[in-house]
Amino acid sequence: MNHPVWRCQDCGERLYAHIEGGYQCHNCARRYEKADLETASA
Ligand SMILES: [Zn+2]
Repeated sequence: MNHPVWRCQDCGERLYAHIEGGYQCHNCARRYEKADLETASA
């Protein structure tokens, strides 16, 4: 499986999986849903 490296759309830092689901930027704390990232990269 190819796992893309997602980056924060605000600051460009890479995103980390959030314990409650989805992903979060550790730099600016912006939250992303997994579905949002998958559709945005298309
Ligand atoms: Zn960020």
